[in-house]
Amino acid sequence: RVTAGIVATGSELLAGRVRDANGPWIAERLGRLGIDVTEIVLVGDRPEEMAAALRSLAGLDLVVTSGGLGPTADDLTAAVVADLTGRPLELDEHMEKVVGDIIARFADRLNWDADALAEANRKQAMVPRGATAIPPVGTAPGLAVPPGDDYRPTVLVLPGPPREVQGMWDDAVASAPVQALLERTEPFAETHLRLFGVPESEIAATLRAVGEHTDLAPLEIVTCLRDFALEVDLRRAPGDEAAAVAHDAVVAEIDARHGAAVFSRTGETIDEILFDLLSGHTIATAESCTGGLLAGRLTEPAGASAHVQGGIVSYSNEAKANLLGVPQQVLDTHGAVSTQAVQAMARGAIERFGVDVAVAISGIAGPGGGTEEKPVGYVCFCVRTADGTEIVRDPVLPGARGDVRERSVVLAMHLVRR
Ligand code: ATP
Ligand code: MG
Repeated sequence: RVTAGIVATGSELLAGRVRDANGPWIAERLGRLGIDVTEIVLVGDRPEEMAAALRSLAGLDLVVTSGGLGPTADDLTAAVVADLTGRPLELDEHMEKVVGDIIARFADRLNWDADALAEANRKQAMVPRGATAIPPVGTAPGLAVPPGDDYRPTVLVLPGPPREVQGMWDDAVASAPVQALLERTEPFAETHLRLFGVPESEIAATLRAVGEHTDLAPLEIVTCLRDFALEVDLRRAPGDEAAAVAHDAVVAEIDARHGAAVFSRTGETIDEILFDLLSGHTIATAESCTGGLLAGRLTEPAGASAHVQGGIVSYSNEAKANLLGVPQQVLDTHGAVSTQAVQAMARGAIERFGVDVAVAISGIAGPGGGTEEKPVGYVCFCVRTADGTEIVRDPVLPGARGDVRERSVVLAMHLVRR
């Protein structure tokens, strides 16, 4: 396998002021290329720390760094990499011109004198001998540096700002030193199962059961709970027969035991699945305890206007009666948090918005307001279609107020999927 480590540099990352966005993003991209990421390291801006981190990854095939490429004195990554790989920094005249043009464009704003600008320009156009400069997205070019005599990994040197890292990624991958590595890789064979309503412990039990008759060691299995869904990611080298057997056995057993809970096999989020599912249909929301969070979530993706008609936040009884036509008698007899109330809310939303599907949510998010019969976390859901079919649920959801509200949104989305 081709292995890689990532070094994100920046004292602001260690101080906890900025969260590392580059490590995870780069790791995901390297995974897609069939490269095994074994470490993500955060270091400060000091060159000796950076050099130590790079030396600690000397056994790998690829090291990707981010940060410290800028024009200022504390930007030293290029020098550290040049030193480690034994490749002296040389002026790349083409890059000097490219960077010079960029700097000239915002020279006024920088308020630097001509000498400082020229110096910054030259510094950012210095390339280790034999390395490929990657055209800048901001001002700093990236560098793809082949291995050195005493340093085995290829080093890909990228700027700090995530926008720049992402913007130059394709060019970085296309560079000769990275392509030389990629000749030795094949993309992984992967399955990305997404399950809703199955606790992690049950998947662990399922995996143990498979492990009793099949060796799972050659298969990489990562489970994680995200957005209240359980993610099971299986990954293996494409040519590995034993891993392929394990891969199929795990998928088959999860299907057999939890098939109804699987909502994706290719890693889509519930948001993406609903977006596709709702294409050609219309939807509206009627929300109480979630206060519009569901409508917010449904309208997050660009293009949501094709199916989202609107939503009503009916937090009070008056709003439920006046805006959605919930009968006073339902509110008096059953209360605003009741299956009868959400059914009436959904019916009202269907009528008022003229949509194909309506979702209604009313619950007790807490911390106050719970009773013995309807405790905090008791939330009622109704998904209703224009032709009158209904799904009604009234679970007691765990967690504090914020959890109950977020969980309600996700549960409602999964009910719409049905
Ligand atoms: P320049 O100085 O020209 O912007 P640079 O390559 O020197 O580029 P840095 O100075 O290291 O980059 O970082 C610039 C800014 O980018 C940082 O202040 C920080 O806000 C952001 N940044 C850097 N690294 C990361 C990271 N790993 N994750 C998220 N943001 C980062
Ligand atoms: Mg900088």
